[in-house]
Amino acid sequence: MDTEDTPGGTATEETKPTTWCPSGRADAPESVVLGVRSQSDASVTYLAAPTPAAELLPMIPANIEPTRVLRFASHCVSGCAHRSNNDCTLISKIQMLPAAGEPAVPRCHLRARCQWWRQTGATACQRCPAVSTAYHADDSLSTRVADPAVTPAQLQRWIDADHDAAASDSRA
Ligand code: SF4
Repeated sequence: MDTEDTPGGTATEETKPTTWCPSGRADAPESVVLGVRSQSDASVTYLAAPTPAAELLPMIPANIEPTRVLRFASHCVSGCAHRSNNDCTLISKIQMLPAAGEPAVPRCHLRARCQWWRQTGATACQRCPAVSTAYHADDSLSTRVADPAVTPAQLQRWIDADHDAAASDSRA
């Protein structure tokens, strides 16, 4: 099996291809549409094949943020605030969250080059449809997950403390 398809693959620095971010930018030159946030809970339905973002962006009304209706994929870049060496700390935090509903692995055109798949395998795919690239300031958990300054260890401590507080409330 090609290492490009293998989570945790061992490609060398010289041969390592660019991986792609599945919660990427809409406006990068290489950006493609990963899927449509079409489900009743706004989770993603994945396109069968990548469509250049530049083809679909003009169809979105000017008063609608593109990431509200579409998910985009673009290159995983070294300057990203979520990057730590070759890892994405965002998916390290997202995988701490429970998968919504049945933990299925969706069909997805990005898998062979997806940074999240390479890093965490099916665990990422089980959470991927529910990921919103848009930032929700009114959701404290989403805020902590999206904040590059919050490490996975800090998030885990916050989740544990929140769980302990909820358990204590239920006993009161
Ligand atoms: S479903 Fe899996 S492989 Fe596809 S974009 Fe999401 S994390 Fe990557």
